[in-house]
Amino acid sequence: MKKKIMASMAAAVIAFSMNPFMGAAVAGAAQISAPANAVKMQQTQVPGYYRLMVGKYEVTALLDGIGRLPTSLLENHTDFTKAQLDAMIDGELAPRDKDGVMIGAINAYLVNTGDHLILIDAGKGEGVAPIYTDKLGRLVDSLKASGYKPEQVDAVVFTHLHSDHIMGITHEGKRVFKNATLYLQKKDKAFWVDAPIETLPEPARPFAKDAHYTMQPYVDAGKIKVYTSGDTLFGEVQSVPLPGHTPGHTGFLFSSQGEKILFWGDVMHNVAVQMQHPEVAIDFDSDDAAARTTRLALMKKLAANKTIVAGAHIPFPGLGRLLQEGEGYRWVPVQYTVFDQH
Ligand SMILES: [Zn+2]
Repeated sequence: MKKKIMASMAAAVIAFSMNPFMGAAVAGAAQISAPANAVKMQQTQVPGYYRLMVGKYEVTALLDGIGRLPTSLLENHTDFTKAQLDAMIDGELAPRDKDGVMIGAINAYLVNTGDHLILIDAGKGEGVAPIYTDKLGRLVDSLKASGYKPEQVDAVVFTHLHSDHIMGITHEGKRVFKNATLYLQKKDKAFWVDAPIETLPEPARPFAKDAHYTMQPYVDAGKIKVYTSGDTLFGEVQSVPLPGHTPGHTGFLFSSQGEKILFWGDVMHNVAVQMQHPEVAIDFDSDDAAARTTRLALMKKLAANKTIVAGAHIPFPGLGRLLQEGEGYRWVPVQYTVFDQH
């Protein structure tokens, strides 16, 4: 037996010298006699939050869940064929689920300004759609894991009023954030909340229904304020009009101590394609030409200024910067940092 193992090890050494990949497999085979040590896999993930400081602001990314992004969503908004789009996705090694559909994140963010605890977007909550993999959004679990409580949030702003950005504020018809005032952008409120549902285009109606349901408890409690994109909120946060995805789609720019971060909502959905080809739009854009114009102009500016971007559908934590690369961009995620010292 011993002689046999020695022989196979020698073979492994020879094979390794000829082909390192093949050799590794053979070397592994030589270890068959090692005693088994079957330890149960944990099959859990780290808590869904990530934190960084941007000047004086403490920013916490909160994972709400995972979304599915079929390539077909892009096909009507580009000259690229499905095969070309799939090649780009595979070229970036973007993850796909068991059905071969590319997956992405649903992110929300919490900013502690020192005076306010502001939630930016709120995940999908009870929302139901084929793009969601979870039955319920994980926003509150992630927020609690990050050390905060829902009742500490005093303001909620939304980049826009699509279901995957708003529904986490209401659970079973009740307010999740009992001490929070909602700040709604004027045009998005008029479209998604105030207009009678039957007056809206057919594809917008399910979103509007979700918006009506989600906002009602806050309307009843008198917890709604309205702003116009471009307004300064809380005396320090610049709201930035980023039209196209929805009529009132808005970013939120925080600047402090020479650093800037822009929460850009749904300027981008498919990182694998739209980073290198920002001209490609998506079915979810209510005005794809306007969304394209916004994206192209914004990315150029953000790359030049090295502004940190927080993206609702960029792989979690969705925080990073843009580097111009040819006509497109490369995404440079933030690196893990620590707060304490050992
Ligand atoms: Zn979205």
